[in-house]
Amino acid sequence: MEGYRETEMCVHCGGSCCRVQPGHCLPSEFGSAQAVRAAVTSGKYTIVLLLDSKIKARVVRPHYKDPGKRTGCTFLSSNGCELPWQDRPYGCRMLRPREHDGEHCKPEGITISEAAGMWEQSGYLPPLSACVIPDR
Ligand code: SF4
Ligand code: SF4
Repeated sequence: MEGYRETEMCVHCGGSCCRVQPGHCLPSEFGSAQAVRAAVTSGKYTIVLLLDSKIKARVVRPHYKDPGKRTGCTFLSSNGCELPWQDRPYGCRMLRPREHDGEHCKPEGITISEAAGMWEQSGYLPPLSACVIPDR
C-alpha cells in the first residue's frame, strides 16, 4: 500500500496536520453505498462539500474532533492516530512528512478535489441535488 508512515518528525510534531483537518478518503476504501452510510451513521465519518468557484463536489473523510469549529480529526488521540496505518484515509497516508524543521509536509497523489470528483462519480453518495447547500 502506497504512502508514508509516521516519522520521528511526526512524533515530535504531535499531528499538526490532524489538528487542522482530517485527510480525505477514496471511494475504493469503502466499496459500497451501504458502507459509506454505515460509516457516516456511526458518527466517525462525514461527507464534506467542497464549494467554491471551481468545484461543487463532496468527499468523505473522518469527522471533525470539534464539529462546531470544523477542526481536527476525531481519530486523533494523545497517542497519535487511533487507526492502524492501513485503515487511515488515503489523504493521510499520502502526506509526506517534512524532513527538516521549517519545511512543509507535502500532500501527494490524488488531491482532495480529484477525490471529490471520484466520490461524485462513485454512486456511493446520495444525489447532490438531495443535499442542502448552505447559502453563500
Ligand atoms: S505529516 Fe507533518 S504535520 Fe503531520 S504529524 Fe507528520 S510532521 Fe506533523
Ligand atoms: S485519520 Fe488519523 S492520520 Fe488521518 S487525520 Fe485523522 S488522526 Fe490524522
